[in-house]
Amino acid sequence: MTQTKTLIEIPDFLTVRELAQLMDASPIDVIKELMRNGIMANINQEIDFDTAAIVAEEMGFEIHSTATVEEEDAEEDFDKPAWRQVLADEKEKDLVSRPPVITMLGHVDHGKTSLLDIIRSSSVQTGEVGGITQHIGAYQVKYNGQIITFLDTPGHEAFTAMRARGAQATDIAILVVAADDGVMPQTKEAIDHAKAARVPIIVALNKIDLPTANPARAMQQLSEHGLIPDEWEGDTMIIQVSAKENLGMDDLLEAILLVAEDLNPCANPQAEASGTVLEARKEKGRGIMTTVLVQNGTLNQGDTLLVGKYYGRIKAMFDYTGKAVKKAAPSTPVSVAGLNGIPQAGDQFTTAKSEKEARKLVANLEADKRPGETIADKAVTLDDFFAQLQEGNSKTLNLVIKADVQGSLEPIINSLENLTNDEVAVEIMHAATGNITESDVMLASASNAVILGFNVEPGVIARAAANSEGVEINSYNIIYKLIEDVDKALKGLLDPVYADVVTGRAEVRQVFRIRNVGQIAGCYMRAGEARRNAKARVIRDAQLVYEGDVTSLKHLQENVREVKTGFEFGVNVGSFNNYQAGDIIEFYVSQRVDR
Ligand code: GDP
Repeated sequence: MTQTKTLIEIPDFLTVRELAQLMDASPIDVIKELMRNGIMANINQEIDFDTAAIVAEEMGFEIHSTATVEEEDAEEDFDKPAWRQVLADEKEKDLVSRPPVITMLGHVDHGKTSLLDIIRSSSVQTGEVGGITQHIGAYQVKYNGQIITFLDTPGHEAFTAMRARGAQATDIAILVVAADDGVMPQTKEAIDHAKAARVPIIVALNKIDLPTANPARAMQQLSEHGLIPDEWEGDTMIIQVSAKENLGMDDLLEAILLVAEDLNPCANPQAEASGTVLEARKEKGRGIMTTVLVQNGTLNQGDTLLVGKYYGRIKAMFDYTGKAVKKAAPSTPVSVAGLNGIPQAGDQFTTAKSEKEARKLVANLEADKRPGETIADKAVTLDDFFAQLQEGNSKTLNLVIKADVQGSLEPIINSLENLTNDEVAVEIMHAATGNITESDVMLASASNAVILGFNVEPGVIARAAANSEGVEINSYNIIYKLIEDVDKALKGLLDPVYADVVTGRAEVRQVFRIRNVGQIAGCYMRAGEARRNAKARVIRDAQLVYEGDVTSLKHLQENVREVKTGFEFGVNVGSFNNYQAGDIIEFYVSQRVDR
């Protein structure tokens, strides 16, 4: 009997999740197959056709290329919560309800930590969960017989940083708003971050014990930001609470259960365990302790945990009360001992059959990685949006807008929104006044967005984050130029911007004269590298004396393509014939850069 292979059509680019869906396979298996091929990718990462084809072939499929993706399907998936998408391969009958996972967001000092503390301690007092709680990054409470999981690191920074790493652990966001202060800048930021993650929001209107509390004003402000109270015919539950006086906690927990009922978070407890690292640290006497949130499957003591390049057999496992446990079902946070390195919060974990298999997977991964190479999941840029649009990968350009004053922000938002038409849409994930921050960069990274600044610049930390996350930041000081660039990006009309990028600097140590050739500069590569196809400048006493193409590059008489730091070599730039010992030769290439 001959077995026919199933045919699947793969576009030029697709995410790991989409590939898994095409094959009706588990995204975890796809991630593992990618790892076997030396590629470290998270579920939201885009891979190209060639990579996808290798994985699909190895998983037993026949491949056809297609550049057209059915947009409606893609959009439908986009609206599904992230955990639903992870379960795409699970059969409906295997799925069972799991506790909702909650994160507290909101402006500083509005009471996130106080609320987390009061909920934790009151549930301990009622004796529903025993013992003294440990801070492991998450805890669970039982209310009306139902379990709720709370993540213990409040704030949208942590929430979005996790998402930028490909993890979406949260099902429901509690937006904490102090009733005396009302909506503050970080409240607005938190709303946008939760919306970008497509996570439902419940508002906890805190500090109602204060005489200065003004719930009506806060509700008015919230509705101006799209959170319309249910008592005003909207669909946002706004619960008045006081962490200080322990008021309204039952209402808040009840609201969580109501929203959760609607959401129906579920998972397959029979599957291989997978989920997200919440925190990890080295502890005296216990070694590396890693808190993970199980999102699918059941984690057992003795399983081999695999997190990026780290792995290890779980020697011991503890729940948030510090009690040793043997099993952890979906939505359960547990702290485990046994990993051979410290992973980062937001890293995703899977399990391997044995430490041996894990070692092999990790070795493959390491072997194929070139030194210094990081596979950054590059976000969209204005330059390449149109190409993505044509490939059918995206028809929405996501933007984060920062401006110096409200007066410029409004016309920018209005003009950008007007650019949306039937074919393409502009979606503004977040718009606010103030400098471009790390939190903006993480939002852009998590939401595949470009950051546009008007009269504002990123700080040092934000700039570094943008580099490592592959997020494009474009700054403008003329509004129409900003609008024009976005308009052109939507139409694929942007001219690329090139700039000279220095690749290395060498010092001339000796000058050789070769008959019929002329002078050759004998150099020492002080930093970076020299490339045969680069351009170079000869610099003497900080003055430019000559500039031209590299015409010859030799190492030990041999022609070479490049020379790295610390090596000696001979070079000729253009037809220059007047090198002197001590000259600096600066090598540069012309490269496409952010505008
Ligand atoms: P976070 O920065 O959002 O985590 O806020 P915290 O939980 O640290 O609270 C900030 C301050 O507000 C602390 O001094 C708390 O004691 C106080 N606080 C928190 N909740 C309430 C409340 O319901 N009423 C009053 N009056 N004060 C509160």
